[in-house]
Amino acid sequence: MERYTRSVLGVFGSPSRVLVRGEGAYVWDADGNRYLDLLGGLAVNSLGHAHPFLVSAVTAQLATLGHVSNLFTHPLQIALAERLLELAEAPEGSAVFFCNSGTEANEAAFKLTRRTGRTRIVAATGAFHGRTMGALALTHKAAYREPFEPLPADVVHVPWGDAQALADAVDDDTAAVVLEPIQGEAGVRPAPAGYLAAARRATRAHGALLVFDEVQTGIGRTGSWFAHQLAGLNGGEDVVPDVMTLAKGLGGGIPVGAMVVYGHDNARRLGAGQHGTTFGGNPVSAAAGLATLHVIERDGLLEHTTIIGKRLEEGLSGHPLVAGVRGHGLLRAVELTHPVSAVVAGHLLEAGFIVNAVAPDAIRLAPPLILSAGQADSFITALPAALDLAAQELS
Ligand SMILES: *Cc1c(COP(=O)(O)O)cnc(C)c1O
Repeated sequence: MERYTRSVLGVFGSPSRVLVRGEGAYVWDADGNRYLDLLGGLAVNSLGHAHPFLVSAVTAQLATLGHVSNLFTHPLQIALAERLLELAEAPEGSAVFFCNSGTEANEAAFKLTRRTGRTRIVAATGAFHGRTMGALALTHKAAYREPFEPLPADVVHVPWGDAQALADAVDDDTAAVVLEPIQGEAGVRPAPAGYLAAARRATRAHGALLVFDEVQTGIGRTGSWFAHQLAGLNGGEDVVPDVMTLAKGLGGGIPVGAMVVYGHDNARRLGAGQHGTTFGGNPVSAAAGLATLHVIERDGLLEHTTIIGKRLEEGLSGHPLVAGVRGHGLLRAVELTHPVSAVVAGHLLEAGFIVNAVAPDAIRLAPPLILSAGQADSFITALPAALDLAAQELS
């Protein structure tokens, strides 16, 4: 920890533990303690740690062809693009741009929106879209933005979940509306029923683009391949965006980001030379993406995620400090009646559970999609003691 402080830039504060090994839903620290990882590397480790299929796919690819420039292509990049378009149910003419992170996927989307000839973007209060200058301009939190202003201009934030405010903000000068179907960093806040459809209507009426940031919610996290396909979120009304951004869970731990662009007309907005990346779509990342998607499908992890998510939702309610459990699938927040999430998370860490105090009154869970019922139950059993300790400190 001392060496970390002396050598690693302090933007993350003090790390909670030094982790050295992982297997399935567990990780081990340098002192040999085991933790149930209910954060999954911030919604990244879809298949858990050291998943044999992912390890062998990545290892085999690295031993075959590890990197080529984007002046060339390779079969896995094409296969991953095709697979994502299928899962996204994207129409003929749709296309994928690969990158390495969520912020880069959103940066690409931001550039694409400029090709409408308009500059105004409508985003939501509480939104998190990343840390590079463009993605940061879409992000709402003042503490993240203000030290770095001026940011790319012409972004307005409307109150999250208010369909009327959103519709009122969209006009013929609007380039795009950018939304997370479930706001992750804001504390796992799902869009209210009808909100995504209202955004689609408003953008369509004014020729603006609709961008869904599914960096955190995509790739099975909510029990559906993408959260905007979830009936519990879209109210059964099909909502097809113009652009969807992905990263986190896509590579199962290997950095992969993607921008899915829907339809010919949108795909043509970025032509040769108008965007690029060195590492994006490299063979190892593509192998990781394909392996992750393959295992999610082969092992029925969408259904499993729905079942285990429900089990957590039901099992974690009931304590006087718990106001409720929100979210979908395995992207959840335990809502607390008091702002003690950091204290509770600390007690849980001592007890061998990694969670995230995403807001003062909310504990976020984004475990691997392979989390077993028994592992979920072990957390359900452990939470009350951590809450009791926090309650004692309150009184
Ligand atoms: C994490 C996240 C990002 C940023 O992704 P990075 O890979 O950290 O750059 C963007 N949007 C959402 C919704 C996220 O959760």
